[in-house]
Amino acid sequence: RKADIECALVVLGAGPGGYTAAFRAADLGMDVVLVERYEALGGVCLNVGCIPSKALLHAAAVIDEAAHAADFGVTFGKPEIDLAALRGHKERVVGQFNKGLTGMAKQRKVRVVQGTGSFASAHELEITGADGQVQLLRFGQCIIAAGSQPLELPGFPWDDPRVMDSTGALELADVPRRLLVVGGGIIGLEMATVYRALGSEITVVELADQLMPGADRDLVKPLADRLKKQGVAIHLKTKVVEARAQKNGIACGFEGESIPDGKLFDRVLVAVGRVPNGRRIGAEKAGVAVDGRGFIAVDAQMRTNVRHIFAIGDIVGQPMLAHKASHEGKLAAEVAAGEKREWIARVIPSVAYTDPEIAWVGVTEAEAKASGIQAGVAKFPWAASARAVGIGRGEGFTKLLFDEGSNRIIGGAIVGPHAGDLISEVALAIEMGAEAADIGHTIHPHPTLSESVAMAAEAYEGTITDLY
Ligand code: FAD
Repeated sequence: RKADIECALVVLGAGPGGYTAAFRAADLGMDVVLVERYEALGGVCLNVGCIPSKALLHAAAVIDEAAHAADFGVTFGKPEIDLAALRGHKERVVGQFNKGLTGMAKQRKVRVVQGTGSFASAHELEITGADGQVQLLRFGQCIIAAGSQPLELPGFPWDDPRVMDSTGALELADVPRRLLVVGGGIIGLEMATVYRALGSEITVVELADQLMPGADRDLVKPLADRLKKQGVAIHLKTKVVEARAQKNGIACGFEGESIPDGKLFDRVLVAVGRVPNGRRIGAEKAGVAVDGRGFIAVDAQMRTNVRHIFAIGDIVGQPMLAHKASHEGKLAAEVAAGEKREWIARVIPSVAYTDPEIAWVGVTEAEAKASGIQAGVAKFPWAASARAVGIGRGEGFTKLLFDEGSNRIIGGAIVGPHAGDLISEVALAIEMGAEAADIGHTIHPHPTLSESVAMAAEAYEGTITDLY
């Protein structure tokens, strides 16, 4: 059969992995087609993930900040929330970047084809458009960047709009009086932060014995304490075993160590993880191996078991983060264009944009203990930072981990406002093989929260002097 479209490189999926790969490959002179099932480019991150959630979290932060201003003598009235305007703000932010991506694709002469792609062979994709028309695309090389989607708990009444995944929660249809958040991970807690600030009564149910499994326990404590103070009910080691749609709400059944008082909720947000889309792209027709969970294995050049087909982003594994996807996208594009590169990530920062924020990078303290790494741990409590106390946030802290043999930094974690911004310095230090003295002797501006990184390094060295 004659192909409708031919190209040297096709990228399947226009999320942060896919568009980065397509743009980089085009910049390197390749003839690129970008296939995306939706009209809007940007994938989960831009449309229903990172960006809209952070736009809403900003509103939550302003509401909370205003409430806490009473601590230093400034009192605002009860916030009046215009939900339509808030949704409008979020949509404008997303829309501006959708347009930006479309413009960047045009500028680079990347051909964007809208439709759902599925492999027909190791060199062909069938692309089904919204109108049902199928086009055959023949490619030289391919980068799979088809991402992931929310995990749906079986047995939940998913046809009822009161049961939501993260995409539904970001739509912000209303502010439910009682919201049940199933899953106390990053996404669940970010959305809980938004809805609580807007006025919902929040119940969080988490299967593990701590919120934010994966993060060190001591990092999570200031967040859990603050959430509890704000009236969020947290139920650990507990699971939802039943959810029934009733006229007056969603009736839930629980099992575990901490059963919530109420059983009836106006809305339920399920945020228990994401499933890769590996089994939805006809990978077997191209001979690309997909594991039982839907992930595609790749080597250090992002090649799958089929040499000319690469895969990047959420579909290749954890951590499912946008900055990992885009980094992998760039690498795959460069290799596809003939550059001799490989990349093994030493550090990928993780950030929860909750209040306080939690950020960590490299080896965590729990991982170091579990794997027998001889790590020296230094902590700087923000209670000793006049700047942190001045903004009413002495509960934060900065923790650094050093290899005891070499004094080199191998990990770091921060909890407190702006932790997500502050963690980049730690990531850079690890990438550069910095020793404690390199960080501690670097002059940080005073008084800033960033000083806490230098202070923790100095604490490790035993040279800490000023604690104010
Ligand atoms: P995706 O963004 O999932 O993009 C895949 C694209 O492929 C989609 O556009 C999809 O429509 C398209 N596609 C799939 N199958 C096909 C097909 N067969 N044919 C055509 N097109 C197809 N990460 C962070 O780093 N920071 C954050 O703050 C953050 N916040 C998040 C908040 C929420 C609520 C959620 C849900 C996620 C968040 N993430 C965050 C995770 C982040 O969104 C993902 O890691 C990132 O989007 C993965 O990028 P990707 O390119 O691999 O795939």
